[in-house]
Amino acid sequence: MADERRRYLAQQIELGGAEIILGHPRAPEPGEQMPTERPAGDAPKWKKGAPPIPGPGIAVTSPAPVLLSNDLASLPTLDAVAERIRTTYCCELCPSRKHAVPGEGNPHAKLVLVGEGPGATEDATGRPFVGQAGQLLESILDAIEVPRTSVYITNIVKCRPPQNRKPLPDEIAACIPYLHRQLELIHPKVILAMGGTAAESLLGVKKSLGDLRGKVHTYNGIPLVVTYHPAALLRNPNWKKPTWDDVRIARQLLDR
Ligand code: URA
Repeated sequence: MADERRRYLAQQIELGGAEIILGHPRAPEPGEQMPTERPAGDAPKWKKGAPPIPGPGIAVTSPAPVLLSNDLASLPTLDAVAERIRTTYCCELCPSRKHAVPGEGNPHAKLVLVGEGPGATEDATGRPFVGQAGQLLESILDAIEVPRTSVYITNIVKCRPPQNRKPLPDEIAACIPYLHRQLELIHPKVILAMGGTAAESLLGVKKSLGDLRGKVHTYNGIPLVVTYHPAALLRNPNWKKPTWDDVRIARQLLDR
């Protein structure tokens, strides 16, 4: 098996890919150019110019399972957590939702992405990051060679705040136990907090994104990287470069 394919397989396993599709290699037709394989030892494109992994930031421990509300600690799977989210009204956001958006992805993901809360498209579909910001997020993941299907994507609050306003502190407090349980069940290798709400809520601090970026924090010992929210990048393209640096830090942590 070619080195390229071996490396791809190893990466899929490393990223927790649920399935591997093996095609049958075929001989090139006369005159046909087959895709060039990356020579062994050649760095992937995303690695060129990637910043070094920065030093440590804040270390937090999530509340002990016994403190989680509504006996969440006894829910044995992500599906059970999702079902609880869909069938419970835990704050003022719930009555106005079309769909709760618990999160989706690989239950064995090595990378978990956390946003703020569902927008209109997510509320309409019950799926996270499927609107414009989601499309941008997918292309960012593509660029670091991480398939969307290999990760788990979720939000701090699971119901859409009206007019996409920021979730209020009591809404976050009511909803975040679900996220703690999801992270406990997945136990990823890396967490990427996208935007100030995700970063502050997971780290339990009130600080600017500027203060929180550029360090490797830890959440229950799991490296946590902070970056801009994809929706913010749509408003301000100047943040694309720093975001590209942040996600490449997260990508390197996956390889560690
Ligand atoms: N913004 C978020 O924070 N989450 C989504 O799921 C979609 C947009």
